[in-house]
Amino acid sequence: MHVILLGPPGAGKGTQGAILAQRLGVPKIATGDLLRDAVQKDSPLGREATQYMNQGLLVPDEIIMRLIGEQLAAPHAARGMVMDGFPRTIAQAEAVDQLLGEQGEQVSRVLLFDVPEEELVRRLLARASLEGRSDDTPAAIERRLGVYRRSTAPLVGYYRDRGVLTTIRGAGTVDEIAERITEAVGA
Ligand code: AMP
Repeated sequence: MHVILLGPPGAGKGTQGAILAQRLGVPKIATGDLLRDAVQKDSPLGREATQYMNQGLLVPDEIIMRLIGEQLAAPHAARGMVMDGFPRTIAQAEAVDQLLGEQGEQVSRVLLFDVPEEELVRRLLARASLEGRSDDTPAAIERRLGVYRRSTAPLVGYYRDRGVLTTIRGAGTVDEIAERITEAVGA
């Protein structure tokens, strides 16, 4: 089962993605984690990506496709995966469709996390003091929310048209939300 978690920064995709991946027995692939890892290792890809990430901008599609092409083709992903934080643009969504299609697979379900914007800002600022992420500053948070509205929100229509979109109410405890997700994917 190939599940995509769609939603703005701070919506809980990382936390819920880990729970869901464990329940389904498939890997969770998060482009944000892969990118932070590349930055930490100071790889050429990490050096290219870091300037965009620090500003709260999207890393160019071409870099993301290099990053996930391998992941999607890896044998451990054959039974499915939980995709956290990608696709984030229509071009990335088309690329995912194509990569999965080449393996005779398709996107099974897209879960849209619905969380009010004030709550997102509150969570992201709380995370900033806990994790010290360089893109959890007030200015970068504002920019990331704007980028989500402009570049990523159009994916809602893309997946609704394909009949695979389910909206998950993002209010409540971690356990309550995990239950809603389990129900939505029939895990
Ligand atoms: P995240 O951990 O998902 O919030 O991602 C952190 C940052 O990494 C984002 O603000 C972007 O700069 C970059 N990033 C992560 N995933 C993507 C993606 N699929 N496309 C473009 N940029 C991404």
